[in-house]
Amino acid sequence: MAGLYLGIDLGGTFIKFTLIDDALSPKGHLELATPTQQGPDKVIETMASGARQLIQQVGISISELSGVGVASPGPIDSDSGVVISPPNIPGFNNIPLRARLADALGIPAILENDANAAAMGEFLCGAGKDADILIMLTLGTGVGSGIIINGNILRGSHNAGAETGHMIVEPNGEPCPCGQNGCLERYASAAAVAQYARRLIEQEDRQSTLSEILQRAGNLDAADVNRAQIDGDALAKEVWDRAMYFLAIGCVNLARLFDPEVIILGGGMAKAGENLNEPLRHHYNELCWTLTESKTSLVLSALGNKAGVIGAAAIAWKHFGKPRA
Ligand SMILES: [Zn+2]
Repeated sequence: MAGLYLGIDLGGTFIKFTLIDDALSPKGHLELATPTQQGPDKVIETMASGARQLIQQVGISISELSGVGVASPGPIDSDSGVVISPPNIPGFNNIPLRARLADALGIPAILENDANAAAMGEFLCGAGKDADILIMLTLGTGVGSGIIINGNILRGSHNAGAETGHMIVEPNGEPCPCGQNGCLERYASAAAVAQYARRLIEQEDRQSTLSEILQRAGNLDAADVNRAQIDGDALAKEVWDRAMYFLAIGCVNLARLFDPEVIILGGGMAKAGENLNEPLRHHYNELCWTLTESKTSLVLSALGNKAGVIGAAAIAWKHFGKPRA
């Protein structure tokens, strides 16, 4: 019987479900709102009921599944399958999510952090297929990242590796909730872009078409900044370009350390497409050394906002599906 694998991606806003087969082809997809305010039991119940709903939609039974891969925001302990305390899912403190879902569904489960799952998704079926070394940066509220080396996730000696969002790119820079100053994600995340634009408008009284949006909606996001810079707004251009400059510093440092085949840009900000990639490449090329030709490619995610859930399913495929070497 052909194997089928379920991926579940737990996010602060949505829970995503994807079913794939042995050829890593998607067989069905579902998204449900995350009942974050109703506590972990309700969230886990929704994860299990969504899984059953998708299986029913596709017309199979749960016993046909070989396993489920679960992606969760970190920090997690992948060995014990425990979610430790993700900041945007209240009440998830030391929850044995892998065991809870395996029990609820009656199939084997594996837990991975969402950034690693997204990187694995791009490695197995996306923009970095079979790359020797792949680095994925997810530009959202923070800068998440996953590093895949020869098909394996880099975890570090103490499970705290591959946190590229917390590389220091500006000494004495912006304070970061992690306790350091000047972390990449304080400059290059979608949240940082919106925050910086807002600061220039409100505290430095700078003129911008973004002021109207800010007054009307009470808030700004990175997509507003991108749209305004496309329309020629000088402040928006400055804000966007600053983010691309710091992102390029991060990418050059990663290139020097790992010499990756590919650095993949994903997350909400990557929806800007070439508006992200073009200025990023410009700064990257300016900052890069001239010692040898830089062969690392900078590319956009192929799986978009499904990278995490497809990656989770692909991790189940890798773990439960094939005889392991
Ligand atoms: Zn930090």
